[in-house]
Amino acid sequence: MKIARIELYEVELPYSGGVYLLSGGREYRSFGAAIVRVVADDDTEGWGESTPFGSTYVAAHARGARAGIEEIAPHLLGRDPRQTDRIYDRMDEVLVGHAHAKAAIDAACWDVLGKALNRPVCELLGGSTGVPMATISSIYMGDPEDMRARVADHRARGYMGHSIKIGALDGEGGPTIDAERIRASLADRRPGEYFIVDANGGLVPETALRMLRLLPEGLDFVLEAPCATWRETLSLRARCNVPIILDELAQSDEELARLIALDAADGIGLKITPAGGLTPSRRQRDICRAAGLTMSVQDTTGSVIAFAAIAHLGATVPPRLLRCILDCRDMVTLETARFDAPVMNGGVLVPDAPGLGITVNHNALGAPVASWG
Ligand SMILES: [Mg+2]
Repeated sequence: MKIARIELYEVELPYSGGVYLLSGGREYRSFGAAIVRVVADDDTEGWGESTPFGSTYVAAHARGARAGIEEIAPHLLGRDPRQTDRIYDRMDEVLVGHAHAKAAIDAACWDVLGKALNRPVCELLGGSTGVPMATISSIYMGDPEDMRARVADHRARGYMGHSIKIGALDGEGGPTIDAERIRASLADRRPGEYFIVDANGGLVPETALRMLRLLPEGLDFVLEAPCATWRETLSLRARCNVPIILDELAQSDEELARLIALDAADGIGLKITPAGGLTPSRRQRDICRAAGLTMSVQDTTGSVIAFAAIAHLGATVPPRLLRCILDCRDMVTLETARFDAPVMNGGVLVPDAPGLGITVNHNALGAPVASWG
């Protein structure tokens, strides 16, 4: 089997909740997505998506993903898409870095591989545990009682995990308002629920320690990405007793190795696009397992195509280590594909269908903006 054609589609995914507010005054209304279709010489096709969270979240942005794909795509024609590691080696040879551009192509190759073998991608990644995966909400920063109401809304829709965004500057209410946000968001906690308090790097050790001192004893949560740098994170880690998980700071294999060497955290947000796709994410899953780190399998955001990749990878993580998966389908209003994986009985199971198991909605994608082959 050889890659005969690669197509690139661009779509804008409107945020379903209006305006998404993140620490540091960051705002998002929609997300640019790069979607890739890989077509093999026997007409087997695969799909992948790269949707960075705006241009101010991590070192990735939508136009960069597209430019990276344009750089890589011509070099993959004629190669076997089923050899996912070899495809990845070739991508690394022709473009240094730009993991987010490689992610969409890599996922599309996994989709092709699954269809070629008539097996779901999760089976090729080691097999589904068969345990429904809890989904995690994404509760943007706001008024504490409004955040509490949004947690309740997601709870009613079956979410067992909640990612509570905080990180106010002193001029925005500082540690006092952040502590109120945490208290309010956890106020109606139900058994089995899991809370992540995510500052997206918006705190420094001083503000983080002040915030933690304002909270009552016994609140059950983990602190995600409290600080923007390693120095700040390690300083805070040494001085607080709340479990810390890293997200933006631990995207690559190298950063994950560093996290383990420094014992900087207790888990990670394993995000498929910043990691560079399913191939590196599979590796990171195994490194986390070996080190006893918990995982929340996610992506920066994305539509159904990105969610399918999340669900297939998440399905292979032992329940002891899998905290949640991000149901990014809920974050955007454009439905790029059908994927039969409803939230039921406290979680999501992947469908037993070949590849990623999606049926792409061509009307939503429009015509490709570029193609090769
Ligand atoms: Mg995060």
